[in-house]
Parts: sequence; structure tokens; C-alpha cells
Amino acid sequence: MKYVDEFRDQALAAPLLEELHRSVSRPFRVMEVCGTHTMAIFRSGLRSLLPEGVKLISGPGCPVCVTSASHIDGILAMAEMDNVRIALFGDLFRVPGSSGLSLAHASSQGARVDIVYSPMDSLELARKNPEELVVFLGVGFETTTPGIAATIMAAKNSHVDNFAVFSTHKVMPPPLMALLDDPDLQIDGLLCPGHVSSIIGARAYQPLAETYKLACVVGGFEPADILQALILLARQIARKEAKVENAYTRAVSWQGNARAQQMVNEIFQPVDMEWRGLGMIPESGLAIRDSYAHFDAEKRFDIKLEPAEEPKGCRCGEILKGKEQPPQCPLFGSRCTPTNPVGPCMVSSEGTCAAFYKYGG
Ligand code: SF4
Repeated sequence: MKYVDEFRDQALAAPLLEELHRSVSRPFRVMEVCGTHTMAIFRSGLRSLLPEGVKLISGPGCPVCVTSASHIDGILAMAEMDNVRIALFGDLFRVPGSSGLSLAHASSQGARVDIVYSPMDSLELARKNPEELVVFLGVGFETTTPGIAATIMAAKNSHVDNFAVFSTHKVMPPPLMALLDDPDLQIDGLLCPGHVSSIIGARAYQPLAETYKLACVVGGFEPADILQALILLARQIARKEAKVENAYTRAVSWQGNARAQQMVNEIFQPVDMEWRGLGMIPESGLAIRDSYAHFDAEKRFDIKLEPAEEPKGCRCGEILKGKEQPPQCPLFGSRCTPTNPVGPCMVSSEGTCAAFYKYGG
């Protein structure tokens, strides 16, 4: 198959669905790690077509959802500073901090906040506004980090000194290990994230398969991709195998993207990072190296991140751990809706609560 429409074609998906039904030998639970998978599964209605006993659980793979309330508070503190302009991808704009207020509110009160479509756009903003310090909010997993690394390199090489990045970047395998260490989380397989894997390579999940005896399959994001990955997972589970397979070979290799990995290593170093719902996870984040400290907003402003409360009543933490489903949250659909979100899982276009609200359970 060559064109995206083909990967969405019902006539081509039907035999895959039949094969999935044939491949299932017992009930099993699979965690789809990535927020893009969650949305794709809901949007295509796949959940309602799955064989009986096959359950998909959403994991911690929406970068906006796992950004901690204390990081949001730090961002809001920067937005209030004189001569600071915040640049960000749109999803974070309406995520509330511990006070219940967001960058959308700060912007309405006069803070300079710009939504950009690429980190390089924020560098351009810095060039156009030399009297301000432009801070780009670095939120995302391995997929977004190389572009931000390239932007920091470009800022250094072109001597754009009024540019910095607030890094809350996270890396994927460590939170999965933290989740899998919890005996309450009973899962049989992982649908591993396609775009993250295009950078880190399918080999990154080998330790998970070996340590936790877990079937791991990298999948793409169209219905045919997801069905193919689920077939491989079902076959592994039926054969009691625990290995890494790649059902997204048109984008993902075993080794990943060496050039992107090199760029990220040049700019960033691993650090312990706080995740919403999951707490502090060792070496699960990326901080800007001292050699690029001039472009590190956290160091430039000496920001101290304080522990922050989650929005009252919000169950995002339990949902991100795969322990609850959005309808179990008492605020779901009443006090918390996409128009008036209480927590990030309802704000983000990849959030599980937003997916449930939009497409139904
Ligand atoms: S429905 Fe709203 S309040 Fe409840 S967990 Fe989801 S985001 Fe949080």
C-alpha cells in the first residue's frame, strides 16, 4: 500500500479484522502507549470492532497530559515576567496550572504568548523581537526533541541570544518500566508508539520485552497499521512469546534515526523528571547541557519548580497509569468538558478524556 487512503480503506481493513479475530486465543489487555494511537483508535471506531475479551488501555503517551502541574506553574511564572514572550505548540495553551489558570488566561491579561507550528518559528519570533526574550516551551517525547535540538543549534550558530527553551522533554521507555513495575497493572502487550520509535528504533523496547515478558509491537497510526500491530500482538500472546516486532516498517527501523539521536545527545542530557500522575521517574527527562546553558530558560531565570496540587477531583493521574477510564472521573462530561477542561487529559487533542468525550467509550 502506498497512499494514506488505502490504510483507511474499510474493504482492506475487513480481512485484517477477520485475521485479528482468528488470532485471538484468550482474553488480553494491551496498552496503547501513544496519545496519537489513542485518538486514531477512537476516531476509526476500532474499539467497538475488537474481538471479545481484547481490551485496549490508554497509557502515558500524551506529552501535554503528562506535563506536571508544577511545570505549568513554572511556565505561568515566566509568562508574567517583563519582556518575556512565550512561544508554544497550541495544545498546552489551555492546560491549567495548580491555580486553575492557564496560559490562555495569562494571555488575556496581557502576557505575550504566541502559538507556533515549529520550534524554528519561535526562533524567528526572537529575531523579530530583539527587545524581548522568547522562551519556547519544549514539551514532547523523542519525536519533537530533534527539531528543538536543531533550533537551539541554529540559535547558537546565528547568535540569536534572546532565545531560550524551557525543557520538560521526556523520553519513553523509563515511564513504561515505572508502570510495569506496578503489579496492579495487568497487561499482556504494548502497542509501541510509531513516531517515537522512528527516532529511537524498535530496539528500544527490547529490555521491556525481556524484563517484563511482554509482547511489544511498534505500530503506525492508520486503522490498517493498528490492526496489523494487534494481529502480531495477538499471535505473540497466543504463542506465549515476548519479543519486539515492527509493524510500521515504512517509518521505523530497528536502530532508529542515528542523526536525530546524535543531535539530541549534543544538546540534551538525561535527568530525573516529574510526570503528572506518575511522579518523579529517574532519567525520564532531558535537560539542556551546560555547554548550551545560555539557551536554557530554567537556568536563565533560575526557576524553582515547587510541588503543585493536581486540579481538585481530576483523575488524570489514574487514567495516565491505565488504572481508570475517563467515565470513572466524577467530573467527566459535567464540570469537565473540552470547552471547560479541568485537567490536561481533556484539553489535549491526544488526551484520553477528550477522546472519550468526542467519540464515546
Ligand atoms: S474528565 Fe477532566 S477532571 Fe476528569 S480526569 Fe479527565 S481531565 Fe481530569
